[in-house]
Amino acid sequence: MPGLSIARIDVFQVDLPYSGGVYRLSGGREYRSFDATIVRITTQNGIEGWGESTPFGSTYVAAHALGVRAGIAEIAPKLIGLDPRKVDRINDAMDEALVGHEHAKTPLDVACWDIFGKSVGMPVCDLLGGRTNLKLPLISSIYVGEPEEMRARVDDHRKRVKIAGEPSTDAARIAASLADRRPGEFFLVDANGGLTVEVALRMLRLLPDGLDFVLEAPCATWRECVSLRRRSNVPIHFDELATSDASIIQLIADDAVEGIGMKISKNGGLTRCRRQRDMCIAAGYTFSVQDTVGSEIAFAAVLHMGQTVPERNLRCILESRDMITVHTADCLFEAVEGRIIAPNVPGLGVEPRLDVLGEPVASYY
Ligand SMILES: [Mg+2]
Repeated sequence: MPGLSIARIDVFQVDLPYSGGVYRLSGGREYRSFDATIVRITTQNGIEGWGESTPFGSTYVAAHALGVRAGIAEIAPKLIGLDPRKVDRINDAMDEALVGHEHAKTPLDVACWDIFGKSVGMPVCDLLGGRTNLKLPLISSIYVGEPEEMRARVDDHRKRVKIAGEPSTDAARIAASLADRRPGEFFLVDANGGLTVEVALRMLRLLPDGLDFVLEAPCATWRECVSLRRRSNVPIHFDELATSDASIIQLIADDAVEGIGMKISKNGGLTRCRRQRDMCIAAGYTFSVQDTVGSEIAFAAVLHMGQTVPERNLRCILESRDMITVHTADCLFEAVEGRIIAPNVPGLGVEPRLDVLGEPVASYY
């Protein structure tokens, strides 16, 4: 189609303060605000597409906010003149411009999908394979705290429980958080890679029998996680270690997990996550669709991807919007009683708030 080539790429930076004050993870990690990079791609005929990459601080995975913008500076000039609808070719061009650094490619990739949808009048989820009829279950996170205080917070924020790496306290955290479990509820206990194998085994032995949960990201390294896997019977999901096609292939080959946390920005955008989704479905995995953190634009990508996952494979999607106090876009979708449906409008269904985004910090054309 004439005119449907990338003419301009603008980059915006926004600080997203954490709504809960201080977010604590294992290993003493603390987060108070998240540095978001938001991208607008404009085609020659004036269609705008939007994408976001917001790392969870610099101590979560090998992704950081300055790196997003430095990566975009490497990549963006190489995308001018390309057809944004040819998403695999766009990703080829990004890989030729910069090896790795998938979190920098994500906002560019997602913006291309937004344009693709707008150019053909279809929602992104339908381009990704077609929407399911599912009202998607939302999850939010219970950050690390005292056991009984965490139990109180579970009332508001079912159902992902964070633990920090001390066996008896973590066992108490899990037991307290699951104490009021309701029928049909599902709990992920997320160590964010913070346990040694020894600590994980001690913690599991201290738990009461019959607690129903999945352990997410128990240890920092592949070897430790697989070692724990061989010596325990708790279902395991990977998150921080499942970042690429290659790692997901290796997970399947090692029979290392029952599922993964798929985070759009760390895994490189919707094009890569589309492929990884299909690998996970073929492997029979249960997975959640998430992002590291993020505002409305990042959440829209999560929502559209989640809307394409069959019910038997979809654990939940992450509601990232309630983790932050600054909102970057108006959304053509809304959660009702903990569930949400992707909007039936062209593209992602977000209308960015230009007053919040301010002036671009970089432009390429
Ligand atoms: Mg996790």
